[in-house]
Amino acid sequence: MCIFCEKYKQHENIVYENKTMFVIYDQFPVSKGHCLVIPKRHIPDYFAMNKNELIDMDAAIIEAKIILDKLHQPDGYNIGINNGIAAGQTVMNLHVHLIPRYLGDMSNPRGGVRGVIPSKQSY
Ligand SMILES: [Zn+2]
Repeated sequence: MCIFCEKYKQHENIVYENKTMFVIYDQFPVSKGHCLVIPKRHIPDYFAMNKNELIDMDAAIIEAKIILDKLHQPDGYNIGINNGIAAGQTVMNLHVHLIPRYLGDMSNPRGGVRGVIPSKQSY
């Protein structure tokens, strides 16, 4: 069983859940409140979701955002999914990074998720 399926089984520190998704805090947060939205079904990536999971994923991201807004009042968010080893995925169970962003948390945030290839972030 993968670490995310194991975490859901233990059912500790669940930030939010609906029928097919659950939300936990990232173990190695890149910012205060960094969450992961994860399907309860073990599937590899975004493209393996069925229609109900797509709807629930969207709802879970929005609900988690409302929770994080209340807790931390971030100034922005990055939403990111690493699909496949070439894209940087390390746990082969779909997980969406919901990363609250704060003005000044890095010197030049321009380009955001374009920073997956750091030399191409700024344009
Ligand atoms: Zn899994």
